[in-house]
Parts: sequence; C-alpha cells; structure tokens
Amino acid sequence: MPTLINGKATSEKIKTEIAQRVSEIKTEGGKIPHLAAILVGSDGASQTYVGAKVKSCEQVGFESTLVRLEETVSEEELLKVVEDINQNPDIDGLIVQLPLPKHISVVKVTDKIKPEKDVDGFTPANVGRMTLGWPAYVAATPYGIVELLKRYNIETSGKHCVVIGRSHIVGSPMSILMARNDNPGNCTVTLTHSRTKNLPEIAKTADILIVALGKPEFVSADMVKEGAVVIDVGIHRIEDASKKSGFRLIGDVKFDEVAAKASAITPVPGGVGPMTIASLLYNTLLAAEGKIYVK
Ligand code: NAP
Repeated sequence: MPTLINGKATSEKIKTEIAQRVSEIKTEGGKIPHLAAILVGSDGASQTYVGAKVKSCEQVGFESTLVRLEETVSEEELLKVVEDINQNPDIDGLIVQLPLPKHISVVKVTDKIKPEKDVDGFTPANVGRMTLGWPAYVAATPYGIVELLKRYNIETSGKHCVVIGRSHIVGSPMSILMARNDNPGNCTVTLTHSRTKNLPEIAKTADILIVALGKPEFVSADMVKEGAVVIDVGIHRIEDASKKSGFRLIGDVKFDEVAAKASAITPVPGGVGPMTIASLLYNTLLAAEGKIYVK
C-alpha cells in the first residue's frame, strides 16, 4: 500500500499551529492578522471558496473582511476598492477571488494589489521574488504541495519531477519550486502542457508526478512509474446518486489503479485541496508579522 498523503490532517495541524501563534500575539498585545477578500458577482463555486476562506480565518482567530461587489461593478470601482484596502493599515492580506467578470482586466486588478498584501502570491513582484528564491508570498496551492512533501519527508533532491499543466496559479510556480536549490526542490523538472508530445511516455519517467491539468481521471496507471510519488491537484464534481449530496469529488488521476503502483499519493478529496487554505492563512500570518517584506 502506498503512503496516503493526508492533506486534510496536515492542514488541520497547520491551522492549529497558526491558531497557537495568534493566541501568543494576543497575549503579547500584538496585531491580530486580518485578511480581506473581494468577491465580485454571485458565482456559486466562488462563493463557496471565499466562504471557506473566511470561515478558516475565524477558526484560527484572524479577523476577516468580505467585500461583495455586484457582477456589474466597473473596473474603475473595483480598482478603487483594492486601493482603499492597500492603504488600510488594519488589513494585512488581500485576495481577489477569480474569475472576474469579462469586462474587468485580471492583469490590471492583480497589478493593483500591493505586493506586501498579496497573500495569494499572484503579483509580478511575488512571482519574481519566488523565482529568485527571495522571501515571497508563494501561491497557495503550490506552497501547500511543497509543505506536504516536506512534512511527509519525501526525498526530492536529484529526482525527476514531471508537472502536467502550466497555469500561472499551479503548474508554472510548481515547476519553479521543484527546480530551486532548496528542500523540497533540487529536482530535474519537466513542465508539460496541452502541446506536449508523448505525454504518457514522459509522465512514466517521473519519480514525482504533479498533475494539474483539470481533466477528470486523465492519468492512468500505464502513465505512472512503479514507486512514483503522485500529487493530484485536480478537483471535479461528478454526479453520484448514491451520495446524499448527489455528487462526489474526483481528481485528475485514476486513484485506485495509480495508488496500486505509487509509493505515495494524495487522495481527492482530502489531499491538496485543504492545504490551499492552510497556505493562504500562513501567508496572512507572515504578512501580519512583516516576515516577507522586512522593513
Ligand atoms: P488551467 O488554468 O485550466 O490550466 C490547465 C493546464 O493544463 C494548462 O497549462 C493546459 O495546457 C494543461 N492541459 C490541458 N489539457 C492538457 C492535456 N490533455 N495534456 C497536457 N496538458 C494539458 O488549470 P488550473 O487552474 O491549473 O487547475 C488545474 C486543476 O486543478 C483543475 O481541476 C482545478 O480545479 C484544480 N485546482 C485545484 C486547486 C486546489 O486547491 N486543490 C487549486 C487550483 C486548481 P495549455 O497551457 O497548453 O492550455
């Protein structure tokens, strides 16, 4: 049986560690971390994600502010809200839930966020700092994966890591983190995408396979090397009449058959997903304590 990399349990442990730090801050009379989230429109998935982030803030003792804006809000008005939060000394971290409506430029909005408050790690300043190996807010999902590899003592040095997917929020930063001279890191990395030829053959050479392409159960056992470590980032809801909710969650990996070959694997749900929120909270704690942009 492979090691089941339990992101749910690990994220709960991280949240407990953060909550402990918050109570120390309270005792010391310091500033309680404060996260602001901007949600534009009423997309169901976005509301669920933002709701979970706000709830987690409460769980660890952070303050949180949720700014809800109409779907029809103008780009100018949204930029003004971002700027107000940039200037608000009480707020340490700011996230703008994506996707944004089509009439709003994600580039302009991201670029407006003050790097010191960019706890999602999406601004050019933080992506650049991460790439240079400087202290940076690292995007929450890749950061959560690095933390899982670290806490499960998975050896990465000298290994071949294949990343499937090159999005700005998952695949690309993941490839940079796995290649950097650090632990976890020091991998030889192959970053693959929709134009990659012979993907199954390349995936099969991976000691560590990180799958983030957004296609349900894309990776089958014949694409995986015996003993590989498999990290499944994908999340998909599929109908399942046998469940009370009427659906169940699956990943980008065919879990049962791949688990039979892997040495370690993340499940869906309960793998990478819960780590994303834990990382966001951790970045917010770093922001409140001024640990990244040291004055
Ligand atoms: P995305 O922005 O849609 O990017 C998908 C990437 O996969 C693209 O680079 C695309 O290539 C590549 N791709 C698509 N089809 C491919 C194929 N057949 N072969 C090889 N590469 C292919 O996705 P994302 O935002 O990174 O998310 C990926 C998955 O992770 C989704 O299921 C998402 O829901 C999930 N996710 C989970 C979390 C979490 O907290 N667990 C967080 C974020 C995302 P091109 O660049 O060539 O188009």
